Amino acid sequence: MAAPASILELYCGIGGCASALPKEFKVVGAVDINQKALALYSLNFRHPTFTKTIESLDIRTYQAWNADLWWMSPPCQPHTIRGKRQDLDDTRSNSLVKVIEMFGRVKPRYIAIENVPGFASSAARSSLIERLESAGYRYREIELCPTQLGIPNRRRRYFLTAGLNEIMEFPSFPEKQKSLQSFLDDKADPDLFVGESLLDKYKHALHIVEKTDANAVTACFTSAYGRSFVRSGSYLKEESGRVRRFSPREIARLLGFPENFRFPSGTTPKDLWPLLGNSLSVDCVRYVLKAFRF
Ligand code: SAH
Repeated sequence: MAAPASILELYCGIGGCASALPKEFKVVGAVDINQKALALYSLNFRHPTFTKTIESLDIRTYQAWNADLWWMSPPCQPHTIRGKRQDLDDTRSNSLVKVIEMFGRVKPRYIAIENVPGFASSAARSSLIERLESAGYRYREIELCPTQLGIPNRRRRYFLTAGLNEIMEFPSFPEKQKSLQSFLDDKADPDLFVGESLLDKYKHALHIVEKTDANAVTACFTSAYGRSFVRSGSYLKEESGRVRRFSPREIARLLGFPENFRFPSGTTPKDLWPLLGNSLSVDCVRYVLKAFRF
């Protein structure tokens, strides 16, 4: 029997990629600098984690991991509409520059990268492509939203898959659509409801979906959800007419995390919203992983 595929998860966060992997896959390393994210990661996965900057990893470390696939979700702020789009001039791109240099030397069999759609037209992407081509990789790029996979949540993202002398093909999309109702908690936490005065103040800016609307699609939940009312995610209008935020568990479901994905006891929605907002659509990762032939 072939050895199970080994994965290196760079910028692993809370484990959006780990959650999508088949059980037999082996994560050889999960690297991130955010300790809160790693605490959540370690609560859910036994994989070896490294609280380190990616810039600090040397070539011997990568060679020792000897992973078949490097999965990476580098910081998106250098490429977001909300950010200043400073691209490679943003210091948060430094680690990606280092990884681009590394994979050309280590040459893992497969590489995958996820980012916001703005990445597609960035200098960071040009430098990535240049390196892939000179190192002998063939690649595919796709913009993917969970709505294409039948999930009532928008989270349009750029994905790239690359293989050393191998061409990747993405699978077709499913026909079936899931309704928002199936992602909701049975009973809403009373703390999630938004007061009348705030509702009034932000009524033109809030994206509100109705619980009873079978075709409702939620907006992208960002790391600002719970802090900012504007363009950070949707609000839910209950049958009673009252409006509330989505709970972290509901967002986790919409992102495709399994029901047994644990949150540390004592953590509040305010702790969890930013971590979930930074994460991945697990459904999209699963779809993208199908392009690889492990
Ligand atoms: N895919 C992840 C989140 C990606 S968001 C998930 O499923 O949760 C980008 C992540 O990169 C954040 O968790 C951030 O802490 C981490 N990060 C940013 N710069 C980094 C660096 N230089 N070295 C290591 N991790 C970094």
